[in-house]
Amino acid sequence: MAYFDDLAPCSYFPAGQDSLLAVGWLEQGHLFTQGLVNEDVFEALVRLCVNPWQPVAFAGRHACALCRFSGGPGALVYRDMTVSFGGANVFIPGTERVFVAPTLVVHYIDAHGYAPPREFLDAVMGCPEMRSLAYLKALKARGLTAFR
Ligand SMILES: [Zn+2]
Repeated sequence: MAYFDDLAPCSYFPAGQDSLLAVGWLEQGHLFTQGLVNEDVFEALVRLCVNPWQPVAFAGRHACALCRFSGGPGALVYRDMTVSFGGANVFIPGTERVFVAPTLVVHYIDAHGYAPPREFLDAVMGCPEMRSLAYLKALKARGLTAFR
């Protein structure tokens, strides 16, 4: 996986760099913010990561950079929800741009004490239902549409 500082422009994708801010692109050897995350926010983020909209199909899998030997689990189960850690990312409309995190971000929070930036957590709580018209409109208004 690629490493980006939190809130740095995310150039992982073939397009959309001007719209995207990275969150949770962690890598061994780079410091990251640890702290408490409210469980309501965690639940909302897990819900968004179950079947996240993708601007482009991606093969491969994000491996956990912090699990020392195993590459981390293949999925996270929380309450009635399962997040599979394929190559998927979650796109969350912020104030002006769109936050993008690997869905593995929920594992980083749950298992490694990662605390994403406040503005990302606020955006999670304000995010329309995944794949809803309101959600897609919010992405488009911030310059993000499907890549061609
Ligand atoms: Zn891990």
